Amino acid sequence: MRRFASFVLVASLLAAPLCLLARPAAALCFWNCSYTTTKYPIVLAHGLGGFDSLFGVLDYWYGLESALENQGATVFVTQVSQLNDTAVRGEQLLAQVQQILAITGKSKVNLIGHSHGGLDVRYVAAVRPDLVASVSTVASPHKGAALADWLRARVAGGSFTEDVLSFFANSLGVVLGLLTGSSNPQDAVAALDALTTAGLASFNATYPQGVPTTACGNGASSVAGVRYYSWSGTGILTNLLDISDAPLAITSLVYPEANDGLVGKCSSHLGQVIRDNYFQNHLDEVNQVLGLVSIFESSPSSIFRAHANRLKNAGL
Ligand code: CA
Repeated sequence: MRRFASFVLVASLLAAPLCLLARPAAALCFWNCSYTTTKYPIVLAHGLGGFDSLFGVLDYWYGLESALENQGATVFVTQVSQLNDTAVRGEQLLAQVQQILAITGKSKVNLIGHSHGGLDVRYVAAVRPDLVASVSTVASPHKGAALADWLRARVAGGSFTEDVLSFFANSLGVVLGLLTGSSNPQDAVAALDALTTAGLASFNATYPQGVPTTACGNGASSVAGVRYYSWSGTGILTNLLDISDAPLAITSLVYPEANDGLVGKCSSHLGQVIRDNYFQNHLDEVNQVLGLVSIFESSPSSIFRAHANRLKNAGL
């Protein structure tokens, strides 16, 4: 499912080579330069099919890392298997968190995960709460993703179709990994199973921290010393120039509730829900593709900077 998003990202990448000549320019700060200066470093964890940087030029968190850094934050962007089970990705993320703590000399990190990355950060916080100041998830399917259920229902386990699908998806994951200079193991079927309603019910039973006990409420805002936050969007067609809007409009059709094209509004809830209806689709949330988002909504940059300021004011 979210490999679909990566298809979109890669297609957009190929369609817009001129835009890839430069990363978003890092700006100098002239005002409010400690607005995002959190006590602990911020760690950005990508979603399914994601990456830290493609070819070293296209950032997954398009312009967001520099936006946070420009106002004082220390930011690290991690990379795990594009397609794999949450525990596998979570262990890879945990190893990187430990490296970040060693590099910075800090005792904890603030984890922010988009999509499947939000499940990875939950895993890390659950197994090593002593290393985590906060967990923030952006459009993560904490109760499962309807598209994963839809796909799973049509791909019988162990069938020829599953083999073919998993071959292509795993290949895409390997290619993405190579393009980003990593060779993490890929397992598309495990990734798909991790994102179904059943997969998340199992995950939540083992790692319940911050998960709402009601269908669409807030979860615990603090568990084992870790603060939990979440936000998400319910926009679909948000920018006429963005070629990723149309495919997200198609995938949104399988959802029974308001959604961002890949994750439902209520499924995105974790801990303190900051907002669940930004006019953003699943890629807008990380300022993709190439910054093409709605001009009628707060920019992803301002949303991330405001959240860093929230963490700072909470002493995190
Ligand atoms: Ca967009």
